[in-house]
Amino acid sequence: MMEEVNEFDFENRIMTSEYDSSQDSEVENCLRPKTLEEYVGQEKAKSNLKVYIESAKLRGEALDHVLLYGPPGLGKTTLSGIIANEMGVNIRTTSGPAIEKQGDLAAILTNLAEGDVLFIDEIHRLSRAVEEILYPAMEDYALDIIIGKGPSARSIRLPIPKFTLIGATTRAGQLTTPLRDRFGVLLKLELYTPEELADIVKRSAKILDISITDDGAYGIASRSRGTPRIANRLLKRIRDFALVKGDGTITSEIAKYSLEALEIDELGLDNIDRRMLEAIIKYYSGGPVGLETLAATIGEEAVTIEDVYEPYLMQIGFLARTPRGRCVTKLAYDHLGIPYVQGSQSTAQIFGQRTMDLDN
Ligand code: ADP
Repeated sequence: MMEEVNEFDFENRIMTSEYDSSQDSEVENCLRPKTLEEYVGQEKAKSNLKVYIESAKLRGEALDHVLLYGPPGLGKTTLSGIIANEMGVNIRTTSGPAIEKQGDLAAILTNLAEGDVLFIDEIHRLSRAVEEILYPAMEDYALDIIIGKGPSARSIRLPIPKFTLIGATTRAGQLTTPLRDRFGVLLKLELYTPEELADIVKRSAKILDISITDDGAYGIASRSRGTPRIANRLLKRIRDFALVKGDGTITSEIAKYSLEALEIDELGLDNIDRRMLEAIIKYYSGGPVGLETLAATIGEEAVTIEDVYEPYLMQIGFLARTPRGRCVTKLAYDHLGIPYVQGSQSTAQIFGQRTMDLDN
């Protein structure tokens, strides 16, 4: 049973986001909007940010520290660049796992100029020791340094420039409370609507000099799982189909044809999503199944399931998170063409399988 499940091919997934090698990062950078005006969607976050930026500029002070959270590929890095740009300051970019020692962060902080933005991606992955340096830096714009060892050790406080920390995380819940409390602005990024994604696709097509019809853009947008990074990736893949199979223009027919070739269905689910849902139905009678158990079953890390696959499946109502674990909903059964029978026992019988619950 397990061999069958392990054939899941996560490597070839077009949907992978931060967890892949990002070979497209150069193109990604050129597609990033530079101003709030160009940044599509996220109206609530944008309108609040406009006020905070305006106010900070009027006061002539650095913007308060900002925490951006939401699934990968929604535009957190992009937005941090825009904030720095709108504030007219420099941005220094790093990430939680990249800052290994307290000294690494101290060096970054002392090299900032007044008002600069420090962007820390995956901020939930900072070590505790490094995080402790950040508290006085965020609160008092100071570094507490210990000089000497043993009884003669003493602590001195070094002032650092007033800066803005922008932290990005896929999981605000994993941030320690002291760190979360030190952010003045918390902005949650939401999945995008197909209309917003169609605007993003058209904008990207223009930058990349790809010819696309409105229907073609919508066809890509509606299968991009609410995520701009996926929309931009699909655009590039489908451009290849348009050049080879068509006359170079992405029409709705070309989009449909290519997405079918890529095994992405009309809701944007690929074969991995489908097999994940099927595994819950087949082996766990539709759930509930614990996250770790599910991860072990499909040979994927729990955090990847949580950050990359689940948000969209939950948004479209295919998956529910309950205190006892993940459950597949009737909507998903219908989509997969599997008869839904209320009650786990009967579902298990459909497959003629015994429920396998590794949690127990
Ligand atoms: P995150 O940091 O949340 O993982 P990114 O900021 O790296 O996401 O965004 C991924 C890609 O999606 C970028 O290439 C960017 O151009 C595009 N993108 C994200 N949000 C938007 C938006 N609101 N408007 C236009 N493009 C966007």
